[in-house]
Amino acid sequence: MTQIQLSALTTSAVGGPAGSYIEARSEAGIIDAVRTADAAGQPLLIIGGGSNLLVSDDGFPGTVLKIASEGFTVNAEDSCGGVAVVVQAGHNWDAFVDHAVKHAWSGVEALSGIPGATGATPVQNVGAYGADVSQTIAAVRTWDRERNAVKTFTNSELKFGYRDSILKRTTVNGSPRYVVLTVEFQLPLGRMSAPVRYAELARTLGVEQGRRAYSNDVRREVLRLRASKGMVWDANDRDTYSTGSFFTNPIVAEDVAARLPQQAPRYPAGADGLTKLSAAWLIDQAGFAKGFGLDPDSVSGGRASLSTKHTLAVTNRGGASAADMLAVAREVRHGVVERFGIELHPEPLLIGVAL
Ligand SMILES: Cc1cc2nc3c(=O)[nH]c(=O)nc-3n(C[C@H](O)[C@H](O)[C@H](O)COP(=O)(O)OP(=O)(O)OC[C@H]3O[C@@H](n4cnc5c(N)ncnc54)[C@H](O)[C@@H]3O)c2cc1C
Repeated sequence: MTQIQLSALTTSAVGGPAGSYIEARSEAGIIDAVRTADAAGQPLLIIGGGSNLLVSDDGFPGTVLKIASEGFTVNAEDSCGGVAVVVQAGHNWDAFVDHAVKHAWSGVEALSGIPGATGATPVQNVGAYGADVSQTIAAVRTWDRERNAVKTFTNSELKFGYRDSILKRTTVNGSPRYVVLTVEFQLPLGRMSAPVRYAELARTLGVEQGRRAYSNDVRREVLRLRASKGMVWDANDRDTYSTGSFFTNPIVAEDVAARLPQQAPRYPAGADGLTKLSAAWLIDQAGFAKGFGLDPDSVSGGRASLSTKHTLAVTNRGGASAADMLAVAREVRHGVVERFGIELHPEPLLIGVAL
């Protein structure tokens, strides 16, 4: 049997061998594979598109289960309630968004171009350009490995937060308690988008922030903006061999934000006077420019660097190991602490490695 390398299954193209590897193409197949691994006491790593994982060069010493169930079912569609659509966990996320926009199902257009599978979207409450999936998810059907039973979560039970949900909080080393089987979205019908909340996107669309635009225009502009930042997966563009943003935007107390230079971007983050900062700005201002790490004398030997289009992505320039990627990330995190006293936290799941 040939051994599967996780580098072949991840967008950053790093990661060592899988102990064993299985692909499940149906809900029954997913449950069966999970039960078999659990009954054998095997560590289990669930993988969708591999776009939010950084896996050790030693690989994963258990079962790697690739979720490959595809398709979606429309349960209801009417002009009052909109469309209720149940999407299989392995269905490519952007293919679903494309279908939604073409069929005038509104609400996910700003999430165009995000790599990976639909089943992973509720895990970290995937978001971009002022939208996130918590705004349109009605329910998530899962396999609960602790109770050996199907468990369906409603939106409020998922306890969504910024890049967070109960599904992520109960995942340990890539091994979730709840394996997502399907995700149900409730989407209004119509050609107009959800309100455009992101200033840069509103500007390029020529609408006031908070107003609506045509969804197909939103999708086109989001794809264009994302591509200019290396945030649409492209096999020919090394700037996209990443996990997307490597760090989350820090959420800090008001007094911490007040100590930053006046020009530091900051946004209100819920109650208690919390403030969300821009990780990209902090990195840049701490002296890490786009392309940091490309120098062959750098910590990564030039094999890994910050993207040449965006300071928030750590990229594999060809032949990088997980250790190279982490060396760049560590240097950046350390530099930001030294300069601003703020610790950045990784967004991707780190499997068998630590920052
Ligand atoms: C170029 C690029 C741009 C990106 N842009 C964005 C962005 O704008 N916004 C954003 O939020 N993210 C972004 N990401 C990160 C990533 O694409 C998303 O987090 C995506 O949802 C991950 O999907 P995936 O199928 O690849 O998950 P994987 O990387 O395969 O898995 C991620 C985590 O979810 C778990 N998981 C996967 N499937 C299931 C399942 N069925 N049940 C339970 N757990 C599961 C895995 O175990 C793992 O812990 C970007 C990544 C890249 C490479």
